[in-house]
Amino acid sequence: MTLFASSKSSINLPLDSFEGYQISIKREDLLHPIVSGNKFRKLKYNFLKFSKQKQIVVLTFGGAFSNHLAATAFAGKESKVQTIGIVRGEEWKTKISQSSTLDFCQAQGMQLYFVSREAYRQKEASPLVQALIKKEHNLKILPEGGTNALAVKGCMEILTPEDQVFDTICCCVGTGGTLAGLIESAAPIQKLVGFSALNNPNLALEVKKYTSKTNWHIQDHYTFGGYAKYTRELIQFINAFYQQYQIPLDPIYTGKMLFGIFELIKTNQWVWGKKILVIHSGGLQGIHPMNLQLQKKGLPQLLYSSD
Ligand SMILES: *Cc1c(COP(=O)(O)O)cnc(C)c1O
Repeated sequence: MTLFASSKSSINLPLDSFEGYQISIKREDLLHPIVSGNKFRKLKYNFLKFSKQKQIVVLTFGGAFSNHLAATAFAGKESKVQTIGIVRGEEWKTKISQSSTLDFCQAQGMQLYFVSREAYRQKEASPLVQALIKKEHNLKILPEGGTNALAVKGCMEILTPEDQVFDTICCCVGTGGTLAGLIESAAPIQKLVGFSALNNPNLALEVKKYTSKTNWHIQDHYTFGGYAKYTRELIQFINAFYQQYQIPLDPIYTGKMLFGIFELIKTNQWVWGKKILVIHSGGLQGIHPMNLQLQKKGLPQLLYSSD
């Protein structure tokens, strides 16, 4: 399997130095155009395991624009493992073509099931998933967002020994798996700051499932109202950032984190170190449908285009 065969590392790009701060960005988004950033890391050891077993079927969960669903579909195809995606929202069944993510998943051979929000919330307890578990003898379930112990192990490969020159490392937090991997692999004197992309007061508890270290903090003031919520100001920041650095960000994860980092520094609220490494975790496969959404709402579109 080509994708996960070599242990890749990404480049650190010096971004800016102002007011005595040095900020570098680790371009994990460039690891792969679709299985970008942390989703590549999180799936690596899971799929290496699955591909060694016979006739495995992998089932997982995601929304119509889910980076995790797209990455799982791709990893399944690459490693010749059958995949099933449980998609949030029955209405998507008739409009797959409106989501390049779902279109892509299907093209990789992922079998999609569209369920109500209620059934989606039930996850493996839902009647559909229960029926699939009975039907498929070798069904393996990956949690929504892909976080498990093997995912954390994969995320431990994001940092390299050279990254020890930084005193502070920032990443986005959805389920906390990426942050946990970074914490586990960072030096004890380094400080990890996770920027939450959603309002979940239990995030720290999730991270603590995978680490007993304490040199980390979750910053939850930059969720912009919750998961996949955004404002005109955020979109404008992402576009200004792109114009200045030619680095695309997404409005769900990385845009919120960089907005937060810049604002905290500019308003003298940054309490961590001055040598900062920011992990660009990817998340750019959903930009096209996002632009359609922005257009409908009369908001500026994202300047980044994937081609
Ligand atoms: C999924 C995702 C995250 C969140 O990662 P967790 O390990 O769930 O915290 C961050 N950034 C991007 C771009 C993602 O797609």
